[in-house]
Amino acid sequence: MTTNRSAETTPDVASIRADFPILGTQVHDSPLVYLDNAATTQKPHHVIESLSTYYETYNANIHRGLHTLSEQATAEYESARDRIAAFINAKQSHEVIFTRGTTDAINLVARAWGDSNVASGDEIILTEIEHHSNLVPWQMLAHRRGAHLRFIPTDSEGHVDLVEYEKMLGKRTRIVAVTHMSNVLGVITPVAELIRIAHANGIPVLVDAAQSVPHMKVNVQELDADFVAFSGHKMLGPTGIGILYGKESLLNTMDPFIGGGSMIRVVELHESSWAGLPEKFEGGTPNIAGAIGLGAAVDYINQIGISNITAHEMSLTDYALQQLQDLDSVRIFGPPDTANRGGVISFAVGEIHPHDIGTLLDTDGVAVRAGHHCAQPLMRKLGVPATVRASFYLYNTTDEIDQLVASISRAKDFFDGA
Ligand code: PLP
Repeated sequence: MTTNRSAETTPDVASIRADFPILGTQVHDSPLVYLDNAATTQKPHHVIESLSTYYETYNANIHRGLHTLSEQATAEYESARDRIAAFINAKQSHEVIFTRGTTDAINLVARAWGDSNVASGDEIILTEIEHHSNLVPWQMLAHRRGAHLRFIPTDSEGHVDLVEYEKMLGKRTRIVAVTHMSNVLGVITPVAELIRIAHANGIPVLVDAAQSVPHMKVNVQELDADFVAFSGHKMLGPTGIGILYGKESLLNTMDPFIGGGSMIRVVELHESSWAGLPEKFEGGTPNIAGAIGLGAAVDYINQIGISNITAHEMSLTDYALQQLQDLDSVRIFGPPDTANRGGVISFAVGEIHPHDIGTLLDTDGVAVRAGHHCAQPLMRKLGVPATVRASFYLYNTTDEIDQLVASISRAKDFFDGA
């Protein structure tokens, strides 16, 4: 990690880029322009080195050994948890559970909380813009328990209808599960307001923060969220690691989801009792390296300053929206300006299939995503099979947006036979 940058200073993008080895590589003989950050982010040296240091110098299983390496691995694993808890302002570190990612975290809640709190005829409230990860686990729970899913209506830009929402909450509502930021439309949902209204009705709220925690300050106590799920790989960390934050009072009422080693207090032949938090939800050998790597990612983000990252992404998004809107053939989905919007822009180019645009952009070294973005119901609502999506992070530049725009124009000319 570059050490002469102090926290909370305006990010120097050139020096940030130098921390990411992959950003110096070429794709199809062009410099890589990586604009697929909503899918996964690139990793700085600092994170990559934290993984190799673990494997090269103190690789051991945690919590079980009395030997030096095991104690060191345990200390680093738990220190990562402490730093992640501080990053989201959790009241206590044991409210932070290591999972495999957002999907795993939401499934944990749908099983461990849902199976004992949702009964036949109960209702689960979602929005129409959810990622499959915050839809399918609730469908599965609803099928298991005979419950019903209800959807807060959204307008064409993805803004939720708060009036309809309030009317939907009733005696049968058991939980509200909403995305904080859409991975397709970039729209930011008013989660603080959604939580306040749900709590006024005694209903807990799960926030899918996969696209928010990496990009903006998320303070779980200020939001008063009951559960918050996010993924390490979308915030400069390794794949296969993520977080479920849960309020201690709720986590304590829940039975474990995965049974096995590490999550027990006493095991008899026919019965077992459970360990306390957080071990109760971390059965089996966890992703030790991943947790340590995520701790390193949080250190890196803290060094730049999350508010600086948000500001940088907002100026990139503002610039990109203007440049894309200037292209006659481009239709942007989601809010047209940066109000209530993050750095994810989905668009269509004339009638050209998004997959074709994605493939042609790749030949210029420009990496974007084209597809349904794990949000098939939203695609149906938008009336398209797929979109092209560009998404930004702290290391992107306006130059790269210019290259995106130039590449889109070339692709359009190619299809027009120009
Ligand atoms: N929720 C949202 C809003 C996402 O964008 C994603 C990933 O794209 C997920 C959930 C699932 O994350 P993961 O695949 O890391 O579990």
